[in-house]
Amino acid sequence: MNKLKMASEKSASRVLMLLSQLERLNEEPKVSDNDAIRQTTGKILHLIQTQEKTRKEVASKSSGGMEIILSSLENTQDLQTTLNILAILNELLTVGGGCRTGVFVSKGGTALLLQLLVGSSKDPPANEELMLHIHSLLVKVGLKDRKLGVKARLNGALNVTLNLVKYNLQNHKLLLPCLQVLRVYSRIHFFMSLGKSGTLEIMFEIIGPFSKKSTTLLKVALDTLASLLKSGMNARRAVDRGYLPTLLTIYQDWHRNDTRHRHVVIRKSILGCIKNLTNIKLGRKAFIDANGMRILYNTSTECLPVRTLDPLVNTSSLIMRKCFPKNRLPLPTIKSVFHHPLLHIPASGPVAKLYNQPPGVDDVVDESDENEATEVDTENDTEYDEDETGPKTQNDDIETDINKLRPIQMNTRPFDELRAYEYFFREFSENFEDDDFESPRSVIPPSSVNSELHRPIIIPTTPSSLGPQNRRPPQEDLLTPKPDESPLELDSISISKRPEGTSDPDLVCSLGRLVLDAGVNGGSVDGPQDEGGEQAVLEVPDTAALLPLHDPDLYLEMVKSTRSVPAYTEVGYPDYFGHVALNLREPILERVYGVQRTKIFQDIERLIHPSDILDKVVYDLDNQSCPVTDNGESLKFNSKFESGNLRKAIQVRKYYTNTDVNGDSMQVLMYSVQDAINGSPHWVRTGSDICYYKNHFSRSSIAAGGQKGKSYFTLTFTVTFQHKDDVCYFAYHYPYTYSMLKMHLQKLSALRTAQIYYRQDDLCETLGGNSCPLLTITAMPGSSSNDPISQFRSRPVVFLSARVHPGETNSSWVMKGTLEYLMSCSPQAQSLRESYIFKIIPMLNPDGVINGNHRCSLSGEDLNRQWQNPNAELHPTIYHAKSLLQYLRATGRTPLVFCDYHGHSRKKNVFMYGCSIKETVWQTNVNTSTCDLHEDLGYRTLPKLLSQMAPAFSLSSCSFVVERSKEATARVVVWREIGVQRSYTMESTLCGCDQGKYKGLQIGTSELEEMGAQFCLALLRLKRFTSPLELHNHNSHLLDMETDLIETRSIPNITSPTTYVLEEDEPAFLEEVDYSAEKFSRQDSLN
Ligand SMILES: [Zn+2]
Repeated sequence: MNKLKMASEKSASRVLMLLSQLERLNEEPKVSDNDAIRQTTGKILHLIQTQEKTRKEVASKSSGGMEIILSSLENTQDLQTTLNILAILNELLTVGGGCRTGVFVSKGGTALLLQLLVGSSKDPPANEELMLHIHSLLVKVGLKDRKLGVKARLNGALNVTLNLVKYNLQNHKLLLPCLQVLRVYSRIHFFMSLGKSGTLEIMFEIIGPFSKKSTTLLKVALDTLASLLKSGMNARRAVDRGYLPTLLTIYQDWHRNDTRHRHVVIRKSILGCIKNLTNIKLGRKAFIDANGMRILYNTSTECLPVRTLDPLVNTSSLIMRKCFPKNRLPLPTIKSVFHHPLLHIPASGPVAKLYNQPPGVDDVVDESDENEATEVDTENDTEYDEDETGPKTQNDDIETDINKLRPIQMNTRPFDELRAYEYFFREFSENFEDDDFESPRSVIPPSSVNSELHRPIIIPTTPSSLGPQNRRPPQEDLLTPKPDESPLELDSISISKRPEGTSDPDLVCSLGRLVLDAGVNGGSVDGPQDEGGEQAVLEVPDTAALLPLHDPDLYLEMVKSTRSVPAYTEVGYPDYFGHVALNLREPILERVYGVQRTKIFQDIERLIHPSDILDKVVYDLDNQSCPVTDNGESLKFNSKFESGNLRKAIQVRKYYTNTDVNGDSMQVLMYSVQDAINGSPHWVRTGSDICYYKNHFSRSSIAAGGQKGKSYFTLTFTVTFQHKDDVCYFAYHYPYTYSMLKMHLQKLSALRTAQIYYRQDDLCETLGGNSCPLLTITAMPGSSSNDPISQFRSRPVVFLSARVHPGETNSSWVMKGTLEYLMSCSPQAQSLRESYIFKIIPMLNPDGVINGNHRCSLSGEDLNRQWQNPNAELHPTIYHAKSLLQYLRATGRTPLVFCDYHGHSRKKNVFMYGCSIKETVWQTNVNTSTCDLHEDLGYRTLPKLLSQMAPAFSLSSCSFVVERSKEATARVVVWREIGVQRSYTMESTLCGCDQGKYKGLQIGTSELEEMGAQFCLALLRLKRFTSPLELHNHNSHLLDMETDLIETRSIPNITSPTTYVLEEDEPAFLEEVDYSAEKFSRQDSLN
């Protein structure tokens, strides 16, 4: 042991000795010393090759070995010495990681190598061993020296290497390191001059048909080529020379011959070259011309069964998707089928932009994609901006202008302008008479006053139906059908009775429609006149027992005064009967590998096998006379009812079956009329093979709202219908119509007791002529004497709103939960009413809801981006809601809490966004002196309370950062301009939860309603933290609790992960193209 150690120490010291000897020789170079230097370097090389420790010794800083060796290399003229030294360096840099290479580079080694390379090429033929050494060193240096490419081009070394490659195509030993150097050059964005120097052509000489020999060499050549083809200029050059078909042929050759899949990396590299070539339009054209779609489709199909070939399938699929010819949507125009005249159209608004286009050019596919082509790879499949998710590079979006973060000190409007809003705050001036306390005051809801529309109302339902006079007596238990109420009655009149194969020309009619004459109170019913099944009974389940706020007759009454642009006369069956929350857990489906790929392949098949495609229009709003053919095979569609929004349906294939995949995360909802009649009136999560991806339809920049042209998206899912001749409704989320709101409000107002103060006003009329209800809910004063009245008037205001985004129906369900709680008779509810005056606008965008918009109002704008400067004509609900708040501020009643309810399609759970200067400043890391910022941390209390109380609520998803892109939203404007410290957006998931009691489950209406109720309870608790009276009088420990709640903020970046953590969230509904091998950039996922 000792001996060994001594031996190694001895050798270590020997190498040091040799180094100092070399150093001395360097200092006094004499020709006669050549031999000595040669010998010394030879000895060092020998030691290094045999003794691991000596390498460390030489490379260590203290020995100065690297300098000495480099200095010898610089000075020597002797070939053998040079070779010795290069061999030493190769040995040294092979191990020891990048550290030694770093030292080598920092001591000027790169320049020396390049000089040596150029110098020795001057009298050819160059020494092969020398070339080998230099190139293998350059490969190593390339990992560390980012400027290698530039240096090599400047001193001419690049051409030396290129020439070596050219003249040594058969000499693989030398070719390999030279190619490796070229690969290094090509990777450090040096491809332009490489392309000009004919490198492309040389690479194509190297790559070729399948061969088991020199696969390493081939791989390097392909990698180099792929890098070069990233440059548009090189790609064009390659396409011009016809290399694309060549690559396809080579790929097919390898596909055929590599039967044991030993060379997947090479096959993948060939695809990599094709992928880069098809980034340019010319390349995509060449790909299509060369029958690339079919070639890649067929090879991929053959690869599918072998999982290890997934990278090939994925890259192929990516290429095919990119090359799939872009189409415009199969619509005559992207303008809506329906038109609603606006009083004035702002010249710069989205409406003017779209409608000022000459006919036909509104959705032209953008052709200019040469430069953006590379984005195709990284662009993720995302939908649209969510309310509150940050944009791509999120830190860019954080507000850094401290002046925009400070509250606005002055009132923004003169009080005279606001005085008119006094009307909506009558509770503050009302003198309660004694009889006010005896019985609820009569309230005439506006909806029942102006039911001036006497149009028939049709409810699409099952095959045949009769009216309420045939209704069965209320059943006690809806969910267990009694034996006598058999679906047989239905069957006896259903289409299924008809002989198979016979077609009924009146099939649409035979679907059955309940026609109610609105003129007669309660609705007398005319069944479809020519219907054969008059004996049928329309089973109307008694939803009243389970749905106290639902009443079909009242619903119809409400519908009559709802004004839609298409003037709907039909009523959705689920809206009429009502939805009873399913008493069943609906787990979030696991995503199954490869679903998206399969779907994309099916899309590609449409191009490759067009004969399989029917492309039959089965529903078309643009063409009302669209013939409904019935061959017993087509589904029939209809969406002409409130909140409906189907424009066109095209049957793509005759039969569509797909059995090998199923499941994804968020399911859509389906309501089966047959099931409802059979006692299950539920919206149920349904569908498998759910997939959402960017398709081959392209949006022009006009359609994309001024952005660059983008793709449309496909949402696809598979549903198996359980009943024959059923009518099924589909929804993205649990529907909640405007008429439903009006019905609920009417029912709620009837719940008033002598203790409850409830008032419903019409805030304003919308563009579509609908009223926007404003509710005031609080407790009646204890009595009409002075003290109770002054307590009543001093209650803080809580201002709530919902449904500014029509597609976020879940926000209405949360609001329903809040309203029901506020009207309930529990002691806590009474206590809550005694604590606050609630001002609630349950639906900020009635028109959008009624007309089936997803996000906009009738002015075509997102109303939650109008709060900074709402226009009274175009955005009346926002304008007047803001005025209410301005009035409150002006009268010294700035609300304690403002909260706008929203829905989130991708994130799970329920969470809040709030506003904090400090957290915003912290996030930006801007060097603002934050010590002068004094901020009350009270904004954290409510979310914290909610996270303790509401099972669906997640504190870790909350954020209190103010983003630039959100400066015109309700949350930010109410915070800054009105001065509400606790100003929030509350986002509820459309999907499900990944924490708490509902972890792993999809969210349903009862969970959403529960959330709304929990919000009320949290407000009750918040009172203890905000009422100075209570704090002084008792419960001093509450002070500690609030401190405790607030203190959690002391570590800035832990308790508030904020939006900036959420970028890592897996989108709940959008499946990223799961081309795992491609490693897409995730940073775009929240576009
Ligand atoms: Zn929203």
